[in-house]
Amino acid sequence: MAFASTNPATGEVEATFDNISESQIEDALVASWAAHKTLKSWSMEDRKAAMHRIADILEDEADRLGAIITLEMGKTLKSAIGEVKKCAMGCRYYADHAESMMADEVVEATDAQTYKKYLPLGPIMVVMPWNYPLWQVYRFVAPALMAGNTGLLKHASNVPQCSLSVEDVVRRAGFPEGSLQSMFITTDQVGDILRDDRVRGATLTGSEGAGSSVASICGEVIKPTVLELGGSDAFIVMPSADLDKAVEVAVTARTQNCGQSCIAGKRFIIHADIYDEFKAKFKVGFEALVVGDPNSPATDIGPMVTESARDEIAKQVENAIKDGAARVTGAEVIDGPGFFYRPGILEHIQQSSNAYHEEIFGPVALLFKVHSIEEAIELANDSPFGLGSSIFTQDSDEQAFAINEIEAGATFVNSMTASHPALPFGGVKRSGYGRELAAEGLRAFCNIKTVSIS
Ligand code: NDP
Repeated sequence: MAFASTNPATGEVEATFDNISESQIEDALVASWAAHKTLKSWSMEDRKAAMHRIADILEDEADRLGAIITLEMGKTLKSAIGEVKKCAMGCRYYADHAESMMADEVVEATDAQTYKKYLPLGPIMVVMPWNYPLWQVYRFVAPALMAGNTGLLKHASNVPQCSLSVEDVVRRAGFPEGSLQSMFITTDQVGDILRDDRVRGATLTGSEGAGSSVASICGEVIKPTVLELGGSDAFIVMPSADLDKAVEVAVTARTQNCGQSCIAGKRFIIHADIYDEFKAKFKVGFEALVVGDPNSPATDIGPMVTESARDEIAKQVENAIKDGAARVTGAEVIDGPGFFYRPGILEHIQQSSNAYHEEIFGPVALLFKVHSIEEAIELANDSPFGLGSSIFTQDSDEQAFAINEIEAGATFVNSMTASHPALPFGGVKRSGYGRELAAEGLRAFCNIKTVSIS
C-alpha cells in the first residue's frame, strides 16, 4: 500500500489508498487533454471567477484542510491553517493578474505587425513533496489553470488526503472535470506518463534524485521541466545588524515547518565580532521552543514527517560530531511515540565533513564563524546548492556585495527568505532551474508564440 496517511505525532497509520490501474491512467490522460481544450476556450473572466471560487473554498474550509495537513505530515495546526490561507492568497493573485501576464505584447521589429502571444501547452505532470503539501500544489495550480494548462498530480505518497483535497476543491470551484487530477501512481508510472505525447511538460519539487530522474526522461522526449530541489541556505549576520532581530528571525528561519523547508536558513554564517553573543542568544531561542502535539496552540514544533526522516537527521548529526562538530544545544531524538526531534545547533563543522556540504532537512542549525564579508560570501557559495539566502547588515556596501555575489535564486536583506506569489521562486546550481510564481511561473508552461502579420 504505497499511499498512506500516517500520523507523525503517533506513528499510527490512519488510512491507506490503492494505486490506480493502467486504464484509470489512460482515462486521466484523456480527461486532462479534454479539460485543457475546454479551459483554453474559456474567457479570462470565466477562469478568473473560478479561481476566486477556489480561494473562497480554501478560506471557508481552512480549518478542515489544515487538519488534514497536520494529520498527514505533522506541522502545527496553526501553521497548516496559515498554509491553506496562503494558497487562497496565491489563487487570488493569479485570478487578478494572469490576464495581464497572458496579454499579447507588441514588439516593434520589422515592417510587419509583430507581437508575442502566450498560449497554454496542455497537460503538465506535477510531482510534489509533502513539506508544504497544499502550497506546493496550489502554486502550480493557480498559474497553470489561469493559463489554460491542466495538471496530473503525483503527490508524495504520505499525503494522499491532501492530494485528493486539491482535486476536490478545483472540481467544486467549477473548473472543467479533469483540470487537476490526483493520481496514486508509482514513480515508474510517472515515467510512462512523461513519455505520453499528450503530456507537454513536468514540474517537480523534491530531492535531487527525483528531479534528475524526471528531467532525464523529459530530456529524452524533449519536454520542458521546472525543478525546485533542495537548498542549504546561508544566513549571514554582520556586526552592524540588529542582533536581537537577527536572532529571532534566525530561530524561525531554521525551525519553521520542523526545519523541513527548502528555503530554511540552514548555515548561519556569523561575523567573529558578534559570534559569541549571537550563539548565546540563538541557544536561548532554540531552548525556548515548545516541541509537542501539533494540534496544541502552545506548540512551536511538531514531529518530523516520518521515522526515516528523523533517523536520517540523527545520523547526519552523529556523523558531523564524529567528524569534529560540537553540539551547542539539542539535536536529539525525543523518545516515545511519534517522530519527535529536539531542535538543535552545531558548531565547528569541518569542511571535510559531509554535514558541511549536505542539506539538513530538519531542525538543526549549523553555525560558522567568519572574519569579513568576503569570507562570509565565499563560505555561502561553498555549497552545491543555491536556492535562497539572507544577510543581516545595515551596511549598504555589504548589502550590495551580497546581492551581487551570493549564488542563489534569492537574497533577502534583513529578513528570512520567503515565497510570495508576486515574486519568482527557484534556484541555481543543484537547487534546480526554472522559476515558479510571478509571471515567470505562469509563462514556464506557455508557448511564447511569435506572431508576424504582413
Ligand atoms: P522526494 O524527491 O523523494 O519526493 C518528492 C516527490 O517526488 C514525491 O512525490 C515522490 O514520490 C516523488 N519521487 C521520488 N522519486 C521519484 C522519481 N524517481 N521519479 C518521479 N517522482 C519521484 O523527496 P523526499 O520526500 O524523500 O525528501 C528528500 C529530500 O528532498 C529532502 O532532503 C530535500 O532535499 C528534498 N525536498 C525538497 C523540498 C523542497 O521544497 N524543495 C521538499 C521536500 C523534499 P514518493 O513520495 O512516492 O516517493
